[in-house]
Amino acid sequence: MGKSSKDKRDLYYRKAKEEGYRARSAFKLLQLNEQFQLFKDVKRVVDLCAAPGSWSQVLSREIFSRDEPDAKIVAVDLQPMASIPNVTTLQADITHPKTLAKILEIFGGEPADFVCSDGAPDVTGLHDLDEYIQAQLILCALQLTTCILKPGGNFVAKIFRGRDIDLLYSQLGYLFDKVICAKPRASRGTSLESFIVCLGYRPRPGWTPTLREDGSTEEFFEGSGIGRASLRDDLELEEEERVIAPFIACGDLSAYDSDATYTLEEGFSSTSLDPVQMPTAPPYKKALEMKRKGLLK
Ligand code: SAM
Repeated sequence: MGKSSKDKRDLYYRKAKEEGYRARSAFKLLQLNEQFQLFKDVKRVVDLCAAPGSWSQVLSREIFSRDEPDAKIVAVDLQPMASIPNVTTLQADITHPKTLAKILEIFGGEPADFVCSDGAPDVTGLHDLDEYIQAQLILCALQLTTCILKPGGNFVAKIFRGRDIDLLYSQLGYLFDKVICAKPRASRGTSLESFIVCLGYRPRPGWTPTLREDGSTEEFFEGSGIGRASLRDDLELEEEERVIAPFIACGDLSAYDSDATYTLEEGFSSTSLDPVQMPTAPPYKKALEMKRKGLLK
């Protein structure tokens, strides 16, 4: 499939290139913001798992268009990222405690108003393993968030609505005033992808979350008020409460449907557009170099 056929098939892909966004995911954050006004009064933002950087582009355009000279956006990813105006990029692993220290240093010790994470690990194809790694990534994003988000601040993270998602909703309910599962129209209906929107961070008084390299997740959340499965005195297993979070589809109805196929007559020119940003370190780079040197058999 050539890039022009993808331009026609997926209008968010096309629209991203037209508007100068590095990825179509930009529209997911824009639609989430339309619904929840996530950027209102926000000055310090952490964009976790940010490469290639379309969410950071949205944040930079929205926040700095309001003339906020002292605003700060930090974008973190394992992959290197090409620079984005007004964004500090950090090539780091969000699961490592040192990353938190680096972000705090950039913020001069001040807390963040908003943290978002669009993290997705490389898929192995082993479904259970993939689901487990994704759940761990969300947990790491949440741990980092609890250490940096100001009380009253908001957190948004990508989730895949798998088997134990109701448990996550319930656990988040101990930390935030409102937890909503949102599906922007730019996210394909055929995918299990959704976003948890957690509004109003409310850590339990007296709980000071501390990330340690040798600490377990259980130790981390000790004192946070999050319930966990435990044995009662009568040896009955007290299960963690499972909660169904309200589900909201967002993006206005005139927005494009990601699963629909559009024709060129519907307002799009037939010229294919070049990518906004070429990949900085694509996995195929080494193979191309080897091929050039005739080292690839
Ligand atoms: N929001 C981005 C945008 O709009 O351009 C797209 C993010 S992409 C779907 C998911 C990203 O998660 C990948 O770039 C990947 O490198 C990153 N990622 C996965 N695990 C990570 C980790 N442990 N630490 C940092 N980044 C991670």
